Amino acid sequence: MAQDCIFCKIVAKEIPADIVMEDEHILAFRDIHPEAPTHILVIPKKHIPSLSQAELTDMDVLGALQLAAAKLAEEQGLARGYRVVTNCGDDGGQAVPHLHYHLLGGRSLTWPPG
Ligand code: 5GP
Ligand code: ZN
Repeated sequence: MAQDCIFCKIVAKEIPADIVMEDEHILAFRDIHPEAPTHILVIPKKHIPSLSQAELTDMDVLGALQLAAAKLAEEQGLARGYRVVTNCGDDGGQAVPHLHYHLLGGRSLTWPPG
């Protein structure tokens, strides 16, 4: 756990969150400021600052995060489609430095993002 990391604190249950899925390595919870009818954050319990800092030893959890996002999309009824995205670094618009995948769905999403 990284000191002062808000998502590590959610993992540790020190900060409440609307958790929708949890296993040994992954936590998924609803974004506090949803940008779509379904907006879930899927994160590794391990503190990885961003995709840039992921290592080969994180390969299993990276795969598991994407599979969890797809399973959640199915569970949330996003049969018409959805988007899974991770913002990385300043230009990527990353605000929270703990790796997370946004699962967005429930409306038609535009492309490209701003
Ligand atoms: P980023 O911009 O880093 O890709 O996305 C961070 C996301 O985390 C934002 O969509 C923001 O609304 C969400 N977020 C920030 N703090 C909290 C929090 O304390 N709880 C929850 N559930 N989401 C948060
Ligand atoms: Zn963290």
